[in-house]
Amino acid sequence: MKITDLKCTILGGYPVVRIKTDAGIEGFGQAERSKPYLKSNVLFYRDAILGEDPTDVERVLLKIRRFGAFKPWGSAISAIEVALWDIAGKAAGVPIYKLLGGKIRDKVRVYNGNIRFPMAGQTPQDYAENMAKMKERPEGFSIIKQGIAFHSGMVREVPDFFYSEVRTGMRYPNYGLLTERGLNLMVECVAAMKDVLGDEVGLALDCGPGLTVPDAIRFAKAVEPLNVMWLEDMITGDYTPHVSAELYREVTRATSTPIHTGEQIYLRQNFKELIETRAVSIIGPDPLDIGGIAELKWVAEYADLHGIMMAPHGTLDGLLGLAALVQVSAALPQNYIAFEYPTAEDWWYDIVEGLPDPIVKNSHIDVWDAPGLGITFNVKEAKKHLTAGDGDFFD
Ligand SMILES: [Mg+2]
Repeated sequence: MKITDLKCTILGGYPVVRIKTDAGIEGFGQAERSKPYLKSNVLFYRDAILGEDPTDVERVLLKIRRFGAFKPWGSAISAIEVALWDIAGKAAGVPIYKLLGGKIRDKVRVYNGNIRFPMAGQTPQDYAENMAKMKERPEGFSIIKQGIAFHSGMVREVPDFFYSEVRTGMRYPNYGLLTERGLNLMVECVAAMKDVLGDEVGLALDCGPGLTVPDAIRFAKAVEPLNVMWLEDMITGDYTPHVSAELYREVTRATSTPIHTGEQIYLRQNFKELIETRAVSIIGPDPLDIGGIAELKWVAEYADLHGIMMAPHGTLDGLLGLAALVQVSAALPQNYIAFEYPTAEDWWYDIVEGLPDPIVKNSHIDVWDAPGLGITFNVKEAKKHLTAGDGDFFD
């Protein structure tokens, strides 16, 4: 089998990749929402992979992987990798997880980091009320993640939250030492949310990037009695083009609260120090940024060897991204906790076929068995959403 074409369109803000073959089998992949600039990035790789056998996934990746980088520049490589696995699965007549060694669980746990309600303000009561709404969701989430500190409105809406000038614009520009008022507010908000959740639902917190090491330690120690699931991205994080494993290690060594990072990191090599020095307790790579499904699986196995847990990121990954997360999570070792459940605009559920209904039951998704990603486009419906100039995407 040979690759005959690589196409990319922006469908409702998501870059969607389509790989065609001379066997008539096609594969799809997707990158995170709001990245129209990735279209030319995807198409840059077209000439490099034409004529290759798409079922030799790693061999194809060796041609292009080194041209990627930390988020968002690993997304195009990742989306292509997912589309190759989709073809490989369809060609073999098996779901992707079978090609990764087979599933070790029939259903995968998900957590809520995506279904959000507007915040009325930044008081402990506002956080408690917001958490109550998420707890009532029909998905029955057993873990809910909330943004706080530099990953929330606190930085802009709370006066004197930290000792630095508030920066605005592309995410996440702020960094600096917290005021005592800022730190106290964070701890009070966590306590208020835990009052709502009790010990029925786990609470994770997305905190940065932008905290200093001393503040990260003070915050992590202050919430120790509250048994939060993890504190995410306190030092580096979304769109940080480096890891700073040694800083994370200082924080992790100083507290019993689990520390988490990794969503923006590209490739296994960039997880090496984080894992080998046990700089965090949990890592959260995103299959659409790390370099794809297999890359995430390899990193998860290496993390497992070092006693580090897995909670993959996925909030903006869309429905093809959801399918990729289900496939890889079914095959992850026993260090798997849950992945971050992505949702999409209502019309997306009309243009994609193969998802269970409802998708999430009791915080879990049943792993489906259709070949490849196991979901396909309803082309007639999907074509209605193609933008001018991309009308031939499905041809
Ligand atoms: Mg995050």
